[in-house]
Amino acid sequence: MKGILIKSIGGFFFVASRSKEIYQCRIRGKIREKIYPGDYVEIDKENKILEDYYPRNNLLKRPKVANVDQVVIMHSIKDPEFAPSLLDRFLLLVESSGFEPLIVINKIDQAEVGFEADFEEYKEAGYELHFISVKENINLDKLFERLNDKINVLTGPSGAGKSSFLNKVIENADLRTAAVSKKLKKGVHTTRMVELLSLPNQGWVADTPGFSSMTKINFEIEPEDLSWYFPEIAQYNNDCKFNRCSHLHEPGCVVQKKVKNGEISERRYKSYKQIYNELEKKERRY
Ligand code: GDP
Ligand code: ZN
Repeated sequence: MKGILIKSIGGFFFVASRSKEIYQCRIRGKIREKIYPGDYVEIDKENKILEDYYPRNNLLKRPKVANVDQVVIMHSIKDPEFAPSLLDRFLLLVESSGFEPLIVINKIDQAEVGFEADFEEYKEAGYELHFISVKENINLDKLFERLNDKINVLTGPSGAGKSSFLNKVIENADLRTAAVSKKLKKGVHTTRMVELLSLPNQGWVADTPGFSSMTKINFEIEPEDLSWYFPEIAQYNNDCKFNRCSHLHEPGCVVQKKVKNGEISERRYKSYKQIYNELEKKERRY
């Protein structure tokens, strides 16, 4: 039977079927070093043996999760205060790592009327946004629907509500999978293996945030490639007068024109410039 590995612990491999029955398996041969939660595996149901694994689409490095379909970037309206330049960096990190981002803004129970306008620039850039309150259960069902049938990983700044959200996922899990997961404990001393938590329908979410160290850009992007990770800029990359236009100062630059006439958000463009300069400085150091 084909299943998905959701966690391994003490020599046991927990494999879920499509109908989310959980099989606690031993493993055959030497593949134990190579498989991670998210891997599709073949098991012998009767003897509870994990026999083989399927080729994977991708592997997130930290935490190690295979076949990631989507990275949910969670930020909050308040506590911590929403900072668009930080969201831009999270988006860049996810996009440049080749993953699909989904933006979730939490704590809308704390928001003022009309707060959505602040996020319009992300919609214009082509991103999908979900406004939720984990605390007040606002729009959680709609979000669960968007996570359905996928392997999701959560990231975002500390305090945005990621653990609260994951505990909500555990509360909503059905009995079969609830027995496997216990309520998350927060603490620096508990380094646990990553586990996939069952979403209310199909699909999974990793119980540990990915890409957690986001204080400064320490990832490998050439400044010339940066524009590809800002979708609203990338769409004009081949339209400027000069090839490989940096969109910073060249004449005949379509992007600069679109910023001036308001078709591209000036704030997002500033973020682009800021990060471009940081990447360039970093490059000169080597
Ligand atoms: P994490 O660091 O991203 O895991 O964030 P936590 O889940 O630990 O949440 C940080 C704080 O925000 C906690 O005190 C939560 O109770 C609170 N919190 C989480 N979700 C909400 C929400 O929807 N509304 C409000 N007002 N507070 C929330
Ligand atoms: Zn240009």
